[in-house]
Amino acid sequence: MAEIIRASEMGFCMGVRRAVQIMEDEATPQNPIASAGEIVHNPHVVEELERTGVHQLPGPDEVEGDFGAVTADRVGEGRIAITAHGVGERVLHDLEDAGLNIIDTTCPVVTRAQRYAQKFVRDNWHALIFGDPGHKEVRGIMGWAIDEQGRSGVTVVEHADIEHLRDVIENFPGGFPNKIGVMAQTTHKIDDFARFVGNLMLLQREANFEMHVVNTLCHATTGQQAAAAELAHQVDVMVVVGGKKSANTRHLRQVCESEGARTYHVESAHELDLDWFENAERIGLTAGASTPDSSIDEVEDRLVALVGAR
Ligand code: SF4
Repeated sequence: MAEIIRASEMGFCMGVRRAVQIMEDEATPQNPIASAGEIVHNPHVVEELERTGVHQLPGPDEVEGDFGAVTADRVGEGRIAITAHGVGERVLHDLEDAGLNIIDTTCPVVTRAQRYAQKFVRDNWHALIFGDPGHKEVRGIMGWAIDEQGRSGVTVVEHADIEHLRDVIENFPGGFPNKIGVMAQTTHKIDDFARFVGNLMLLQREANFEMHVVNTLCHATTGQQAAAAELAHQVDVMVVVGGKKSANTRHLRQVCESEGARTYHVESAHELDLDWFENAERIGLTAGASTPDSSIDEVEDRLVALVGAR
C-alpha cells in the first residue's frame, strides 16, 4: 500500500487554459477553425479539440516556412488560430495577406518575451536567447527580433556551461556584439538561466560587451518546478504526466531527477508499470503545463489500482 501525493502546483497553466478556451469558444464541428501547428504538445488535448472543430495544420514548419501553401480555402471558414507558443511577425503578416481571419491565442507571457526581443533589436542590442532553437516558441520570438532593414538580430544558445559560452563568443560570425540583451525561453529552468547569466558575467572579463538581462521565465512553470522539486524530496518515486514533446514536462522530469527521485515520464495511464513502484511507500505525481486534468486523474486512478492506496 503506497501513498500517492500530488504536487501543490501542476497541470494546465494559465496560457494553455486560455488558448484552449478561446479555441473552444470559436469552433464548432459545423464552423471549424484551423490551428497554426500543434496547439499544445499533448495528443489528448489535440484529439479533444479536433472533435470540437479545431483542425490542426500539419506542423510548425508549414507555418514558419513556406507560408504560401496556407490559403483561406485550406482552413475552416478562413479562420486560423495562432497557438499559445506564438509565431513571428512575418508569419502574422503572411496569414493576413493570405486573407485569413486570425484568432490569436499567444500566451501573454510569450508575447512579453517577443516584445523584449523586438525592443532589444530596435535599440541596437543583439538578442541572446537561452533556449532550444528548434522549439516553436523560440522560433516565434526569433521572428520578432528583426531590425528595420529586415536582418535578424538574435542568437539562440542552448547550453549554459562556460566553455560553450566562450566558444559562442570566440566564434561569433563577424565578432561578438558589444551590446547584448539576454533572455530565456519561457519554460526553461530558473537554475539553468541563472547559471547562463552568471557565466556570461564571468566572461565579460575576457570579452568586451555590455549586457542587459530580462527575466522572461514563466512564473507558472517556475512554480511547478519548485513544487515538483519539493515533492521529489519527500517520495520514493515521482511520476511526471505530459506529452513526450512538451519541453516544460521534460524539464519537470529533469528537476525531479536532479533532486534524486526515481522518476518516470508518462503520456498516459497505460504506460505505468507495476515494477516501477516495488517497495515504494510514497509516490509523487506532477504534470506539465499542457497536461489536462483528465490525463492526471486517469494516471492517478491507474496508480491507485496498481499500488492499492491514495
Ligand atoms: S507555460 Fe507559461 S509561458 Fe507557456 S503557455 Fe503556460 S503560462 Fe504561458
